Amino acid sequence: MIGAHPDDCDNDGGGTAILFAKMGYAIKFVSVTNGDAGHQTMKGTALAKRRFAEAQEAGKRFGVTYDVLNNHDGELLPTLEVRVQVIKKIREWNADVVIAPRPNDYHPDHRYTGVLVQDAAYMVAVPNVAPETPALKKNPVFLYFQDGFQRPNPFRPDVAVDISNVFAQKMHAMDAHESQMYEWLPWIGHYLQDVPADKTEREKWLAQTRAVTITPAVKASLEKWYGKEKSEEIQHAEAFEVCEYGAQPDEAELKRLFPMLVTK
Ligand SMILES: [Zn+2]
Repeated sequence: MIGAHPDDCDNDGGGTAILFAKMGYAIKFVSVTNGDAGHQTMKGTALAKRRFAEAQEAGKRFGVTYDVLNNHDGELLPTLEVRVQVIKKIREWNADVVIAPRPNDYHPDHRYTGVLVQDAAYMVAVPNVAPETPALKKNPVFLYFQDGFQRPNPFRPDVAVDISNVFAQKMHAMDAHESQMYEWLPWIGHYLQDVPADKTEREKWLAQTRAVTITPAVKASLEKWYGKEKSEEIQHAEAFEVCEYGAQPDEAELKRLFPMLVTK
């Protein structure tokens, strides 16, 4: 999973990552920037170091490895240099599945991360591009994280994963991003006064404020994958859209790649 900041993959795909990890699959989160702009009082190297440490702790709690690329937060551009960084990360991991943001988003770093990963799709299989890292023999399946943006087209939940059983673990992992969950995001969102001081209370509060409402489209996808009866009980879900670039999976292939969707 590839995000712009060291907490993006966590929020958008963390529950699914936990489920994969529990099944024995190897998951990597990559943050394309080092997060060195995301705070109201800290900045620069000190902030990047703090966020790197938080990401490593979150990675442990999710059961994933967490890489942070040393590009400045808030200044990301879809350059050839960063494209090659992304291509190398996908190749070195020999990824079967790559999940990233759609290129339409309020935050320019999210937008350009979406573009950078789109630019890497296909190129990861081209040997003459970044030849110092061997090209992949087959193109991975690329998917997008869910978002609520409507233009130019709304998110289409091709895959919807029930994360109800691991939602508490997801929140515990996100709790590792203290600088974000309890300081920066509440400050920029004007709700700093709502953050509980007590550590245990904070994590409960996080679970209340971070729960994502299941949209009608995601509900329909859950029904498709889990059946009507089981889907009624699902409280928390993460959804993904298949990208038109990269390998194009049919339903059987999606079930192979997302084995948590196969209900017995
Ligand atoms: Zn972000």
